[in-house]
Amino acid sequence: MGMLTGAAKVAGVIGWPVSHSRSPAIHGYWLLRYGIDGVYVPFPVRPGDVYDVIRMLPRLGLAGANITLPHKETVLCAVDQVDPLARRIGAVNTIVTEMDGSLHGSNTDAYGFREHLRAAAPGWRPGKAVVLGAGGSARAVVAALVDAGASEVRLANRTAARAERVVDDIGGPVTAIAWDEREAALDGAGLLVNATSLGMDGGPPLEIALDALPAGAVVNDIVYTPLETPLLAAARRHGLTAVDGLGMLLHQARPGFAAWFGADPAVDEALRAHVLAGL
Ligand code: NDP
Repeated sequence: MGMLTGAAKVAGVIGWPVSHSRSPAIHGYWLLRYGIDGVYVPFPVRPGDVYDVIRMLPRLGLAGANITLPHKETVLCAVDQVDPLARRIGAVNTIVTEMDGSLHGSNTDAYGFREHLRAAAPGWRPGKAVVLGAGGSARAVVAALVDAGASEVRLANRTAARAERVVDDIGGPVTAIAWDEREAALDGAGLLVNATSLGMDGGPPLEIALDALPAGAVVNDIVYTPLETPLLAAARRHGLTAVDGLGMLLHQARPGFAAWFGADPAVDEALRAHVLAGL
C-alpha cells in the first residue's frame, strides 16, 4: 500500500462471502501504480445487513463500492438512482457516491465484456451470436451484444424459463432456444459466449461441439478459473479466436476506479499478470 493520508479516498467491495473477490487485487494494483492517496477494502456484509450498510456509505465518507454476490440484485432498491442499463440487466455492481451524497448504481459487466472482446478479438463485428446461460453475467453479455448492434442473439439455458425472462427484460433481437439446440444454433454465428458456470475448476464441463461454427468465429468463455477452459482449448484446436474471461473482469473495474479515484486506469499485461498470480 502507498502512503495514506487522512484525506485518502475510500472504496471497497461488498459481498458475502467476499474473500474470493479479485477486486481488491485489481484496485490495489492501480492505486499503487498511479500513486493515489486511496484505499480499496473488502467488506463482508450479510444479506440482511446490506441495505443499511449501503445507505451508510455517504455518511462514512466512502467514494463508493463494488457489489458482488449475492447482493447485485437487492442493491437496486438501496441506491437513489439506477442507470438504465443496470435496470435492464437487473443488477448493480458499481455504486458511486455523488457530490450531494446520493448513491448512483450502475452495471459495468456489459462494458467489461465489450471492451475485452474489442481488445482481444479486434476483427470481430456484431452479427449473429450464441450466448449460453441466463444468470446475472449472461444478462450483461446479452445487453452488451444487443447494444453493440448484434443482428441476432440466440440464448440457450438449461432452465428455459430463465432464458425467456432475459428475452423479455433485455429486448432487441434476442431469441431463447432449447438447451439441447445449442450446437445447431452455432450455424452461421460469428460469436459463442459461455456465460454459464460450466467449465469452472472443480465443476462439470461444458459439453458442446464447435463444428458448426464458421471459420473466423470467436469463442469467448467468461469463466476465468481456469483461465484456459476446455472450451477455449477446443476453440483453438478448431482454429477459432479464443477470448478468455479474465479481461472482462479487469475491464469492468475501470469505470468504478475512475469515478472514485479520479484516474482512468490501464488494463494491460502487467495488471493481468498481477491478478493471475493470485488466482
Ligand atoms: P449464475 O449463478 O447467475 O448463473 C449460472 C448459469 O450457469 C445459469 O445459466 C445456470 O443455468 C448455468 N448452469 C449452472 N450449472 C449448470 C449445468 N450443470 N448445466 C447447464 N447449465 C448450468 O452465475 P453468474 O451469471 O453470476 O456467473 C456465471 C459464470 O460467469 C461463473 O463461472 C462466473 O465465475 C463467471 N463470471 C465471470 C465474470 C467475468 O468478469 N469474467 C463476471 C461474472 C461472472 P440455470 O439457469 O439452468 O441454473
